[in-house]
Amino acid sequence: MAKKSLSKAKFWGPGGLSLTPTDLAIFREDIDWFLPKRIFDIHTHVNLAIKDGPPKVSLELLKQFQKMIFPKRTCNNLLLPVPLGNSQTSDQVNQYTSQQVRKFAERGDARLFFADPRMSATFVREQILQTRAVGLKVYMTRATAKNKTEAPIRSFLPERIIKVVDELGLMVMLHLSKRKAIVDPGNIRDLEVLSKRYSNSKWVLAHCARCFRPGMFEQVVDRLNTLPNVYVETSAVCDPLVFMEIFKNYDLSRLMFGSDNLLAAGFRGRYIECGLFWLPIGRPGFQWGQGIFAMQPTFVIYEQLRAMSRAARLVSLPAKDIRRVFWDNAVGLIKSIRQSKHKLPDQH
Ligand SMILES: [Zn+2]
Repeated sequence: MAKKSLSKAKFWGPGGLSLTPTDLAIFREDIDWFLPKRIFDIHTHVNLAIKDGPPKVSLELLKQFQKMIFPKRTCNNLLLPVPLGNSQTSDQVNQYTSQQVRKFAERGDARLFFADPRMSATFVREQILQTRAVGLKVYMTRATAKNKTEAPIRSFLPERIIKVVDELGLMVMLHLSKRKAIVDPGNIRDLEVLSKRYSNSKWVLAHCARCFRPGMFEQVVDRLNTLPNVYVETSAVCDPLVFMEIFKNYDLSRLMFGSDNLLAAGFRGRYIECGLFWLPIGRPGFQWGQGIFAMQPTFVIYEQLRAMSRAARLVSLPAKDIRRVFWDNAVGLIKSIRQSKHKLPDQH
């Protein structure tokens, strides 16, 4: 899809991918003071289009979007290939990411390799070395378990593949399955067992360990703090209370900024707590209201950043810690992976 039509594409909500007066006001009031000059985004995507779903997003478009939403900042990316819907294959998305990296990656960018649990360990190893990926992206929709939403970690990341990650000292981006996410007793126990057994592997828990609502992270924070090779990234979480729990109690040397741009954070809306779960508002088809209830929504990424900034203000988070979360921790982790005993070469 051409860039021009993408800025108007309905998928992203009212205003498309251009800045509205609402976006500008939110950035000015709640984000500008908080956002450091250098950003490393540990959770981004390039993706192929699917019918009735997101349009194609190239790395060139992702970078243009970042220049627009993060003015006067630089931003490097970790790119996560992920097959969308039932029609896209792992090969397709891995190849598209490789092609985009070759064309548009800048110094400092990095990528993961999407691993399906049916792949052999040898194949995964070869592909990691060939693509120079710094780790794996895995996802519950590819789980071998029948009930994919409640799939245990090993059913979409078998131990034979974890052994490769461990041997090469790589990271895994883990979007936890199960309704209770990290609070699920099986998930936290599996994470403790696997991260200790494979101590050279690095585990990054996406979406604040998938704690989109308050009261979850605080239940496991003490256990997470004892796992030195487990990290947490912030993408798509829009609730300031979740960030307060994290900023106050989690080891901030292992917290990293992630956005989930553009796939899950470039549309206008917000992830909100509802009952004992959460839901995204603003997906295509959502009614934004009329008359006195007419809404002027902003991007999910702006909702996330203002939730983080409000929490940071309330707990008086030092600027040094903010810089660590947005840059030092992610850059340090990727550097340590590239300097591991197998000396994975730089992207360039
Ligand atoms: Zn994502």
